[in-house]
Amino acid sequence: MTGEVTYDTAAEAQVTEGSETDTAPAPEIKGDGMGCHAGAAEMEAAARAAGSSEILDQYAKDYPQGPHDKPQSMCPAFGSLRVGLRMSRVATVLSGSACCVYGLTFVSHFYGARRSVGYVPFNSETLVTGKLFEDIRDSVHELADPDRYDAIVVTNLCVPTASGVPLRLLPDEINGVRIVGIDVPGFGVPTHAEAKDVLAGAMLNYARKEVEAGPVQAPASGKSDRPTVTLLGEMFPADPMMIGRMLDPLGLAVGPVVPCREWRELYAALDCGAVAAIHPFYTAAMREFTAAGRPIVGSAPVGHDGTAEWLKNIGDAFGLPAEKVAAAQNAFLPAIRDALATTPIEGTITLSGYEGSELLVARLLIESGADVAYVGSACAKSPQSEADRDWLEAKGVKVKFRASLEDDCAAMEAVKPDLAIGTTPVVQKGKELGIPSLYFTNLISARPLMGPAGAGSLAEVVNAAIANKGRMDRMTEFFEGVGHGDTAGVWEGDPNLRPDFRAQHQKKLDKVARAAKAQEMI
Ligand code: SF4
Repeated sequence: MTGEVTYDTAAEAQVTEGSETDTAPAPEIKGDGMGCHAGAAEMEAAARAAGSSEILDQYAKDYPQGPHDKPQSMCPAFGSLRVGLRMSRVATVLSGSACCVYGLTFVSHFYGARRSVGYVPFNSETLVTGKLFEDIRDSVHELADPDRYDAIVVTNLCVPTASGVPLRLLPDEINGVRIVGIDVPGFGVPTHAEAKDVLAGAMLNYARKEVEAGPVQAPASGKSDRPTVTLLGEMFPADPMMIGRMLDPLGLAVGPVVPCREWRELYAALDCGAVAAIHPFYTAAMREFTAAGRPIVGSAPVGHDGTAEWLKNIGDAFGLPAEKVAAAQNAFLPAIRDALATTPIEGTITLSGYEGSELLVARLLIESGADVAYVGSACAKSPQSEADRDWLEAKGVKVKFRASLEDDCAAMEAVKPDLAIGTTPVVQKGKELGIPSLYFTNLISARPLMGPAGAGSLAEVVNAAIANKGRMDRMTEFFEGVGHGDTAGVWEGDPNLRPDFRAQHQKKLDKVARAAKAQEMI
């Protein structure tokens, strides 16, 4: 063998090397012992005491919580981490507990990030003495090479946020490299979708101030001679092109997609005629567009009704004559109607997810003929999702914002649909019950949804899954009687159940909960 055989060139990616540090274990944040999101109230109180009230109040306004108030999916910081990692010439540095950073880097590389994630470790002493902030400042100074980076994003995870590590005191730029510091704690940002908005909003805010201060770089692809529509929300790569085709008869062009892929796109995004909030939860980003005087159009061109309404709203935002809007509608609506009619979907579906595009997908499924009984979104409701909610409710769909995993599972168990589309635990439960199930993020939201290309794009995968009911039944029958929960598996004798141990442990948990409650009252 002359050399290592590799699958791709990932091994050649440039890696940022850190120096060895003498780290003691991170301080323990006491919770109720039930996982990484436990003790959220305690951490939030600590963050407020450490001077982070303003940012937490802003998050509470931007991302209203309840009925569930803790992330039920992956760590929210994954959303902002991914946005930073996807941008060229942007370095990412995390500050948080080693276990959180391990999990976040693992997931980001699992999803194909070919970049290093910087990490500034800490111990009890560096955290309480403020040395951690100095270490972060030193690391950004070391990293700020204008030949390699346009910007460095530093993210405080839960523990540094709770301890009030003041990223706002970092310099705005070093050697021409912009420094963007954000706090993304699990106790302030409820979903990873909304964490994308935290970083997109912070970057737009920075870019807007740069625009106000003087001339900025033009977009790499040149400036469009038509007014543009900036698209808000990550979508299937063909969707912006499809939207561009639909904007063409209106005399408009499609602008950048936010979150952007490079810094100078942020200027072009701000330089638009209107913003299409395809994903409705980008509250902080929309605040920046509003400050720049850009109107915002909600919903998206999905299906027949959605596209007709969206084109009209875009026409209104640009003050276009009704005939021009009608011409665009006439050019695309018949094709959408045909595509929907030739690829029908039959069956009852429950749908849930945490991407923020759940309502749009439900609209498309209904127009394809499906009977959608329930739509749950982990994101909060916003003015930009109102039109979709109204449309769905008029069709008799139960729409739940900030839906918890329990809500989604309860809806699936009550409806007993022909297909459950949901998050991993919902899909797992669905399969246990013999209900064909599809994972929303990988199988549904990674498809074109907009205009004629989106109409009918879901039918193949949805119909194939519904047709799998026979296999699901055979599987359920095959596994019947193998046990469940802590008695799962094939046992030679009876499972060794110890309800007395369980009762004893429950007593301990109740005692801890009572003590925490009493503490709250003090
Ligand atoms: S940063 Fe917070 S929410 Fe994320 S994994 Fe760590 S403790 Fe959990």
